[in-house]
Amino acid sequence: MSLTLSKKLSSGVVSNVKTVKKSIASLGTADLSGKKVLVRVDFNVPIRDGVITDDSRICASLETIHYLLENNATVILISHLGRPKGGMISDFSLLPVANRLSELLNQPVTMTDSCIGLDVEKTIQKAENQDVILLENIRFHSEEVENDEKFAETLAQLCDLFVQDAFGTVHRRHASTAGIARFIPAYAGLLLDKELTVLNQLITNPKRPFVAIIGGSKVSSKLGCLETLLDNVDTLIIGGGMVYTFLKVQGIEIGKSLCEDDQFDAARSFLEKAKNSQTKVLFPSDHCVVSEFNGTAKLSVVSTDQIPKNQLGIDVGPMTVKAIQEELSHAETILWNGPLGVFEIPEFSKGTVAIAHTLADSNAITVIGGGDSAAAIKEAGLSDKMTHISTGGGASLAFLSDQNLPGLNILEDQYPI
Ligand code: AMP
Repeated sequence: MSLTLSKKLSSGVVSNVKTVKKSIASLGTADLSGKKVLVRVDFNVPIRDGVITDDSRICASLETIHYLLENNATVILISHLGRPKGGMISDFSLLPVANRLSELLNQPVTMTDSCIGLDVEKTIQKAENQDVILLENIRFHSEEVENDEKFAETLAQLCDLFVQDAFGTVHRRHASTAGIARFIPAYAGLLLDKELTVLNQLITNPKRPFVAIIGGSKVSSKLGCLETLLDNVDTLIIGGGMVYTFLKVQGIEIGKSLCEDDQFDAARSFLEKAKNSQTKVLFPSDHCVVSEFNGTAKLSVVSTDQIPKNQLGIDVGPMTVKAIQEELSHAETILWNGPLGVFEIPEFSKGTVAIAHTLADSNAITVIGGGDSAAAIKEAGLSDKMTHISTGGGASLAFLSDQNLPGLNILEDQYPI
């Protein structure tokens, strides 16, 4: 099923933020029956040789689709798949998704061969209540990423209502995020609503102590989020490849470790803010290092001040894992985004896997910010042990940094503001 909310999360609408959007849950049969509802879903699933290797994103959309069908609407689904760059490339067709969706819904799903045009209009006109139509990959048209106004208006004319349920795309300014909703009433789907409820709570009213673990490769993509978290969390733990840029600006030898030279000023400025903040900021105290970036290279553990010139850091060391586990042991809320090492190579994944298990065993509210940390948790078979795994890695970071996202601002507000 969609999201796992197995641990207790205080429910209720958060009313003091601008991002509380009207969800379709506030619409009943009187509003939906006989309506053609266009739903932006995230069906960007991995497909190998025509076979879907992970259908979680399709499953995550089912709650919204069922809700609309139960209320007698016609459901028209629209999504992107991969990056076909505006061309009709058969490898990026959503046809395998239509087949899988049909199995999951146990009803036929009509697939169109474009998302606009006369045939699409006819198919939608002919459709009856409770029918499901999947439009072909919206990125077959470059107007999608260009947020072309005419294209968005044409799509809006296909239906009566628009529902945004693709949380992973709301930080983008595309026709299917920021465009269509300008022309017709637009609501949050049930998946998007769940994402916003969980993330809003982290921003406005987290149970404390609140500990965030931010890993991954790039300082540049995480800095905005790190700065926001510095103001919100009690402990901020930084891991992964981005650690080395922060060490380098402090004059620490990092050998051949990953480093973003163009982020030195930003990293310095963050460290200065961290020094003056009430928040405890933790960097790894030891590292697994290798001379080459492959799983057969000899791995050693060194402390931060002993990284050899000819080696590179690829994972946090055991002392760091222990220190993180100690911090997490008294946390009431834990947010995790980004792996602590090169987790794709099993020999370098120990730190990431150990922390995944610690979160799974914790009684705290555990929120995973999508992307690679979600993949690591899934790989370890621990997904159902987390409170919430976000369906949008980039979107959840963007939302935590600034809630004014193009695909959200355009939706109907829950309350007049
Ligand atoms: P991001 O997309 O910024 O969340 O980064 C995720 C990537 O960070 C993963 O592909 C990891 O392999 C990579 N990563 C984590 N730790 C390191 C490290 N120490 N050196 C290089 N890459 C790393």
